Amino acid sequence: MRTHSDVVIIGGGAVGTSIVYHLAINGASVTIVERDSIASHASGFSGGLLNPTSEIGKLVPLHHQSFRMHEEMLDRVQEESGIDAQVLRMPHIELALTEDDVEVQKADLRRISYFPDFKSDWLEPGDIRKLEPRITEDLYGGVLVEDVIILDSYNLTLATSRAAELHGAEIVLREATGIIYENDRVVGVELGPDRINCDAVVLALGPWSGAASLWLDIDVPVAPQKGELVRLEGFDRPLGFHLRSHYSGMHSSAYQKADGLLWMGATRMDGSGFDTVPTGDALERISSIGIRMIPELESHRVVLQTACLRPVTPDGDPILGRVPGKDGLFIATGTAGQGILLAPVIGRAISDLVTTGETDVDISPFGFERFSGQGPDL
Ligand SMILES: Cc1cc2nc3c(=O)[nH]c(=O)nc-3n(C[C@H](O)[C@H](O)[C@H](O)COP(=O)(O)OP(=O)(O)OC[C@H]3O[C@@H](n4cnc5c(N)ncnc54)[C@H](O)[C@@H]3O)c2cc1C
Repeated sequence: MRTHSDVVIIGGGAVGTSIVYHLAINGASVTIVERDSIASHASGFSGGLLNPTSEIGKLVPLHHQSFRMHEEMLDRVQEESGIDAQVLRMPHIELALTEDDVEVQKADLRRISYFPDFKSDWLEPGDIRKLEPRITEDLYGGVLVEDVIILDSYNLTLATSRAAELHGAEIVLREATGIIYENDRVVGVELGPDRINCDAVVLALGPWSGAASLWLDIDVPVAPQKGELVRLEGFDRPLGFHLRSHYSGMHSSAYQKADGLLWMGATRMDGSGFDTVPTGDALERISSIGIRMIPELESHRVVLQTACLRPVTPDGDPILGRVPGKDGLFIATGTAGQGILLAPVIGRAISDLVTTGETDVDISPFGFERFSGQGPDL
């Protein structure tokens, strides 16, 4: 283990590894500290969907910018690392399973139609069944969006960290236990009895970010939100669409990934702490929507059910940028259900900030000051 790095990133998920990659390609000496293994939590178990058209709010520009960065970077990171991220491109269809969904979705189509990079259209039930006869007959239409990306987020995160390593980054599988300051300036990271001296630290602890409150003397308002996914044996003739609908009070997707399995989910459960035990209730809820969208799924065997944790903030938006009052300390967390999509743009923005003190990525709405009550450190 090096005793000095320019920058230490704590957390080896999609966010931390993307930051490390961007710093490493810019020539910084950089170490990533991960207490379990790379992508061993949500970044390794996410649905792997990149769809910037599905959400509203302040993050929309970053979702689109990051999607374009994925398009530019995916080949390069896979080539550099030799790891296949199992990338597929396919249309997304938001199915209207009730009459009430129709108006909601037609309004949503008007919103999506402004995005120049995505062709979108309203489909009548007959059009949908012509495209994919395995979709239920019992539907009222849907919104088609061309084309989203589906990948394996475990492989992608691993590929990003491996590529960073090949650009000179160091991966240390240890738990970070503290930050060392001299007059409120970061000078190192504590790993139990050991330390790495550094000029800057980036906190990318995902749902464990709250634990860093002790290191900062400021509350980091990030909580874990449990999400479960179910994988079923797939169709011999693969399903060529990412399907999603709103049914029984929740949104859920069904899609066949490059691993051949049909993935369905996910649930969103707040307030269950760091519990990651899959539940029968989630299996039932996810299956009922999946079967409602594709009745044949009733006969498909469940191969795996997983649970992992999204990092969520009180206002639902991430925390990105400097930590107020601490020189050389940065944070990138709170990406909720879009962390795989957002990883490239966050990687670039934080790398810019650390190395040059500024970034042209507009992360100004996502500063820590909105929670810490302190003004931005200029
Ligand atoms: C069910 C589900 C489905 C999802 N589907 C999608 C999707 O389709 N598309 C999408 O864009 N997003 C999706 N997400 C969201 C996405 O997975 C997360 O936003 C993203 O993985 C968060 O990445 P992260 O790096 O911040 O956190 P994590 O992946 O949780 O990584 C944080 C890391 O920090 C490490 N760590 C914590 N404390 C310490 C310490 N003291 N020392 C060293 N290391 C430490 C942890 O071990 C962990 O590896 C989904 C999430 C869930 C739960």
